[in-house]
Amino acid sequence: MDEDTEARAAGEDRHLTTPSGLAFKALLEHTQGCEQCTDDPTECGTGRALVRTVREARRVESAATARVRDVHG
Ligand SMILES: [Zn+2]
Repeated sequence: MDEDTEARAAGEDRHLTTPSGLAFKALLEHTQGCEQCTDDPTECGTGRALVRTVREARRVESAATARVRDVHG
């Protein structure tokens, strides 16, 4: 229970509500249960698609953050 509290204090919950956080969580959940990803992630189409989704989401989010900074800056 202490560990959960620390994770929340570090902003884990908030992080996981972002599109890239949710995509990363889906990627982790897939790779943990996928033999192919454990063996060689580049050989798994699902794993590759999830990695691409995480990258796309992060790019969109960093672009959005840059725009917000411009507006307020
Ligand atoms: Zn996989």
